[in-house]
Amino acid sequence: MDATQWSEESKRSCLHCGHTYSASDRYNDIHYTCRRCASPAVFTAADQKRSFEVKKNYIWQSRHLCPACHAEWVQLKAKDRACQARWTEDRRLLMQDKEFMRDWLQVLEALPTYDSRKQSSMKTCLRKLLNQRSEPKQRPAPASTAIDAHHPQPPAESSP
Ligand SMILES: [Zn+2]
Repeated sequence: MDATQWSEESKRSCLHCGHTYSASDRYNDIHYTCRRCASPAVFTAADQKRSFEVKKNYIWQSRHLCPACHAEWVQLKAKDRACQARWTEDRRLLMQDKEFMRDWLQVLEALPTYDSRKQSSMKTCLRKLLNQRSEPKQRPAPASTAIDAHHPQPPAESSP
């Protein structure tokens, strides 16, 4: 273990609790159960060294996913980011694209099974858009209301 190679954030966390590490300290294999598929996995000493000293990950970051689920999670996150980027660019067009929205919704619904912290308001928004009954062409719905429905304005009133 070479604590001098840790990220600044990791080093600070040790100052905080008063614990010091020396070069003679060793990482120990950490056995855990994958949160998603419940298969046993090991965060090996070598993996920890690579993670904390080379990739500069935070040392208190713990693993919850087995390597296979972790790889899937990374892919899903990448897809989510790509969808988000397209959405930001071309929302008006994509709101008509049910296939795109269904795809993205699938990604958003899958993500929490990997990472419980991941909550997305986009999920609710997409569900709403997909469940909208298609209006007859003669009676076009006002376009602006649906677009900003998930970003409600704060009340304009102010106290005197
Ligand atoms: Zn797994």
